[in-house]
Amino acid sequence: MKLTVDVLSLKERLALVTGASSGIGQATALALAGAGASVVLNHLGQAAQARALVAAIEALGVQAWAIEADVSSASDVNRLAQKVTDTCGMVDVLVNNAGIIQERSFLETSEADWDRMLDTDLKSVFLMSKAFLPAMVAQQRGVIINIASDLGQLGRAGYAPYCAAKAGVIGLTKSLAREFAPHIRVNAIAPGPVNTAMVSLQSMSAASIAKELEIPQARFAETEEIAQTVLFLASDMSRFYCGQVLGPNGGSFMP
Ligand code: NAD
Repeated sequence: MKLTVDVLSLKERLALVTGASSGIGQATALALAGAGASVVLNHLGQAAQARALVAAIEALGVQAWAIEADVSSASDVNRLAQKVTDTCGMVDVLVNNAGIIQERSFLETSEADWDRMLDTDLKSVFLMSKAFLPAMVAQQRGVIINIASDLGQLGRAGYAPYCAAKAGVIGLTKSLAREFAPHIRVNAIAPGPVNTAMVSLQSMSAASIAKELEIPQARFAETEEIAQTVLFLASDMSRFYCGQVLGPNGGSFMP
């Protein structure tokens, strides 16, 4: 097999990134577009940021659409899927990236906290996969990339629902990978801490989190470093990856 940079090309492919208006989702949308994919940008309540990203992607010479939807809601996801099918075509690469985090001691965690976290960080992956897999099955092609977290592998005090949701994403990824192989590839990425709004919302500084989390590389990732891993999994370069959990985490978790 000849290896050329073309193997990373996503020309003629349509990607959909959830939670694309900020952080890892935004960097991912730009990376996929940079490789030639048209991109659907899902966002929730961030129309201005999504519009700016559409413009940035169109400047790269590929098409982009911004579509608002709450990916934790079945009716919103179905509306999103219908709009994408009618307007943009078949999704070749689905990146389930949207997510939220909350720091709260377990004993103070309410049922509502639990439901909100599990609905946004895990049920959304179920709903989006249900909505977009049938077309992939019909076409016998497609890639799903789920953004989990190293906290789903490590666990962390004060983050039980988040860790449970992200561990669930990993289990769901492996199950779908087995069920839909060989034509559809489903893999996950479990990043360590990344420099985004999500982490700056937390009370500790990057340096102290890096120390406390025992990250050998002693820093946070940049969003582009996670986006590059998405690009790899989206491309033909990762053809033989099935149900894997890639860990751009600076060494925080070593399976
Ligand atoms: P972020 O807050 O910048 O991005 C999350 C995005 O998801 C936001 O744009 C938000 O509007 C969107 N979103 C939230 N709920 C939504 C919903 N119901 N419907 C649609 N969109 C919704 O943070 P980020 O760090 O870029 O996070 C992206 C993903 O990476 C998340 O799944 C997160 O858990 C995961 N992650 C982040 C880190 C980190 O340290 N930042 C580490 C590991 C994993």
